[in-house]
Amino acid sequence: MTDLKTNIIGLDREQLKSLLIEFNLIKPSEKFRIKQIWHWLYFHGVTDIDHMTSLSIRFREDLKKFFTLQRPKLNKEQHSSDGTIKWLIKLADGNLVETVYIPEENRGTLCVSSQVGCTLNCKFCHTGTQRLVKNLSTEEIVSQLMIARDQLSDWPTNENRKISNIVFMGMGEPLYNYDSVKKSVQIFSDQEGIKLSTKRITLSTSGIVPQILEWGKEVDTVLAISLHATNDELRNEIVPINKKYPLDELIQACRDYPRSRNSRRITFEYVMLKGVNDSLADAKALVSLISGIPAKINLIPFNPWPDSPYECSSNNQIKKFGDFINDAGYSSPVRKTRGQDIMAACGQLKSDSVKIRKSISRLQK
Ligand code: SF4
Repeated sequence: MTDLKTNIIGLDREQLKSLLIEFNLIKPSEKFRIKQIWHWLYFHGVTDIDHMTSLSIRFREDLKKFFTLQRPKLNKEQHSSDGTIKWLIKLADGNLVETVYIPEENRGTLCVSSQVGCTLNCKFCHTGTQRLVKNLSTEEIVSQLMIARDQLSDWPTNENRKISNIVFMGMGEPLYNYDSVKKSVQIFSDQEGIKLSTKRITLSTSGIVPQILEWGKEVDTVLAISLHATNDELRNEIVPINKKYPLDELIQACRDYPRSRNSRRITFEYVMLKGVNDSLADAKALVSLISGIPAKINLIPFNPWPDSPYECSSNNQIKKFGDFINDAGYSSPVRKTRGQDIMAACGQLKSDSVKIRKSISRLQK
């Protein structure tokens, strides 16, 4: 009767403790039990309660009556010629979610999703053309990392681990799923488990101003803003949430973000769209807009998809734009397009999950 059992993945320590007490598995004073289970789960990455060998056989048997460690199923794994790997994960409710691993010379980044689909319809983003299906639970977010580590043989945590950074840049707007994303970050950064510093976790938002400030006070990861335009008229078109939270409010929230006040950089993501936002006048406006904010600007060559409404700026124009920003004192790396051949590049996530869901529903009819 697996489905009646509670999955331990995604519970925080307090929840786990309360449940163990409620099921009469531990006494309130036996805190060390939580520590033991946590260590097996998030340091060693065990997939079976029987593998928690420092627990007595009887305790493991009792745990198995109420709990499971089950991960969602891996539906598909695709490898790009550049080393990027995309996983399509089938959740327990049948929904599909995409997670991408991007290996680089000195780090490995896991791009996780926070929602299935998205409500925000950013015009350059393929995911935005898929309607919102649901917010992911903490278990579903944390499981993306667990599966990636399983697939990469990246347990236990050590100095040479493959996944060194996490970015919330997959499907969805993470600040619209605030509580589950926050709890996931707490699990990712717990020093007795996965141990990823919040300095290595980036939350990327399209600009949900009230939650940016709350996030800064409560969690304070690295912040990335999906900016893409320097005036409200154009940003209303490219990132429509701008109509609700216009640029002046967004930029003020960046100035007030605790990390920014401590001189730590905010990343501004700027997708390069030919003839739309890539002129030198735009570069000048960008420098003036973020003046005084410790910042880095990631220039992202637009990744087209079938019927996408934009074209990517030329390399020459991207270079000129980047040089202007650099000369103004801001780092402005051009983000290498990764995983384009498997539709895993920035803004491209969607196709497989939607295609597969459509085929499943056709088969079910
Ligand atoms: S860029 Fe992010 S917030 Fe905008 S539509 Fe795509 S997934 Fe949603």
